[in-house]
Amino acid sequence: MTSKTTTKHYDLIVIGAGAAGMMAAITAGRRGKHVLLLEKLPKIGAKLKATGGGRCNLSNTLSNEDFIEAFGRDGRFMHRAINTFDHHALRVFFSKIGVKTDAPDGFRIFPVGHSSQTILDALSSELKRVRVEIHSSQRVTEIKKIDKHFHITTGCTTRTHPPLTYTANFLILATGGKGYPQLGAQGDGYGLTADLGHTTTSIFPAMMPLKVAEKWVDTCRADTIANAHIKVDIKKYRKLQAQGDLIFTKQGIRGPVVLDFSREITPLLAKESTVPILINMTKGMGEEAVRRHIKEKHSDTAHYNTLQLLETLLPSSLARVLCSLSGADPLKGFSKQPGEVRMKLVKLLVWTPLTVTSHDGFDKAMITRGGIRLKEIDNQTMQSKLVEGLYFCGEVVDLDGPCGGYNLQWAFSSGHLAGVSASAL
Ligand SMILES: Cc1cc2nc3c(=O)[nH]c(=O)nc-3n(C[C@H](O)[C@H](O)[C@H](O)COP(=O)(O)OP(=O)(O)OC[C@H]3O[C@@H](n4cnc5c(N)ncnc54)[C@H](O)[C@@H]3O)c2cc1C
Repeated sequence: MTSKTTTKHYDLIVIGAGAAGMMAAITAGRRGKHVLLLEKLPKIGAKLKATGGGRCNLSNTLSNEDFIEAFGRDGRFMHRAINTFDHHALRVFFSKIGVKTDAPDGFRIFPVGHSSQTILDALSSELKRVRVEIHSSQRVTEIKKIDKHFHITTGCTTRTHPPLTYTANFLILATGGKGYPQLGAQGDGYGLTADLGHTTTSIFPAMMPLKVAEKWVDTCRADTIANAHIKVDIKKYRKLQAQGDLIFTKQGIRGPVVLDFSREITPLLAKESTVPILINMTKGMGEEAVRRHIKEKHSDTAHYNTLQLLETLLPSSLARVLCSLSGADPLKGFSKQPGEVRMKLVKLLVWTPLTVTSHDGFDKAMITRGGIRLKEIDNQTMQSKLVEGLYFCGEVVDLDGPCGGYNLQWAFSSGHLAGVSASAL
């Protein structure tokens, strides 16, 4: 028996039902367009649901200028998208579809109740209200532009849907990056648009834990260091630094500071086999401040041994590690340690060295560094400069921001701009 192939025509097809694609589809649907949203997973918004540990850190309260600056030099590309749909507009958007938001720490914006499911439910209802058709379990395998129309072919990802072909006047590509492939994004967008002439920068996994060579980290597993400062210990990359909370793991380091830092480290690891780093775990104390602290503690509590003294600055397991690395006898008083041991200990308290060796690749990468080249996209509309009627939004393009709601805001802002632009004609 041969299966019958149906071709249905739409004003607009959006590929990928993540944050960017859903926002693009709603925006066009609200403008009266006949929109089809294609999603390869059985359910829409899988990654959105997982964001912020299920709490969904939607955005942050930075001014538009500061927000854009956090994306580095390429941030300039996002001016139009952010200025037409910033965090204020995003909060109004969600409030109008029934989700109130707040920023409990004054910076990170969450849905009140801190559940990503409320965001997903509200987006799903709005997609329905504006009559966006959703075909899930449909993986787009080919995009062709014939005359003025896009021809889209899908392969079904379950038995419930046969493969289909669709046509549309406009197309928005919102297929995401390559990280956490189980949540849908597997880099499909790069290949799909390569056939149309688009090119992709080098791609690196980012925002992930890092593995180190030093075995001692295992003994400090779960120790959390508030406001640690990390920097690369290679002369020409000294500018690569990050600050925030750090947690030791069995094989390395994780935590907010590591997520941000890994965005810089993974491209470096691809060039160098290992990357030496230095960590300040004493809230930014320099040698002078460490010496002063030791002196003060010593005069207050002269009976303290070296381990107890270090425990005034660090968790116990780390204090033991630093004693061992410096060769200090933990049970002896600090002043009883040999001079070179004291000096080594002070230096270690200021900068503890570690050697980054690897990471878990895209499987554990919360975002992707790299994507469709920005120079091939018109940032005023998100339209391709190579293929008329094709638009991009979200993580598929070569932009990534740090931890703290930056990436979702970019997905929503660029989705909004792509949706507006694709509905304008
Ligand atoms: C665990 C985790 C937590 C995160 N937490 C936060 C956070 O709290 N705040 C924040 O700002 N950012 C966070 N991020 C990053 C953020 O989630 C992403 O940057 C953002 O969701 C990207 O949105 P997107 O729509 O561009 O892509 P995605 O959300 O990845 O959506 C792309 C969609 O396209 C579909 N698709 C792909 N290829 C095809 C195809 N060929 N055919 C059909 N469909 C296809 C995928 O299945 C997917 O549903 C987190 C990421 C992860 C992994």
